[in-house]
Amino acid sequence: MPDIRPTVGTTLVLNATYEPLCVVSVRRAAILVLSAKAVCVTDGDGVLHSIRSQLPVPSVVRLIRYVRVPYRTHVVLSRRAIFARDGSRCAYCRGPAETIDHVLPRSRGGAHVWDNVVAACAKCNHTKGDRTLAELGWRLHAAPSAPKGTAWRVLGHRAADPRWTGWLGLPEVA
Ligand SMILES: [Zn+2]
Repeated sequence: MPDIRPTVGTTLVLNATYEPLCVVSVRRAAILVLSAKAVCVTDGDGVLHSIRSQLPVPSVVRLIRYVRVPYRTHVVLSRRAIFARDGSRCAYCRGPAETIDHVLPRSRGGAHVWDNVVAACAKCNHTKGDRTLAELGWRLHAAPSAPKGTAWRVLGHRAADPRWTGWLGLPEVA
């Protein structure tokens, strides 16, 4: 096992077919490269040192052998994921979000599912209470739905390294 000093940061792992698979620690990615299980596709910043060799920090690596991975077809509903989907903005007033609100309140039979949860500020959440949007005359800026796509499958609520955007089908950052 190569001796890689602990490093911070993460690496995007591509399957042998160049399809994005997952995100791992830089250390884990370096071990894949040094054990000839993966090749580096894009270098990151800096160099890793092991006892016998040194290696540029891998930002994107590709597995040598294809691995068949059963994909999770849905994104797990969590507070962090809801905030990421909604850009940390309140669904009602677009102010900074602080809480999670059930659009149809749970007390009125609303479910804890992607289509019924939004990020909200404390004020809107408090004002809304156990009432429905129709009762308040409020409207949503957009209908909430489960996030989809390669980037969500691979990254979840994590932010993408700018070097990964091309692989994840995200717009390039200028
Ligand atoms: Zn609000």
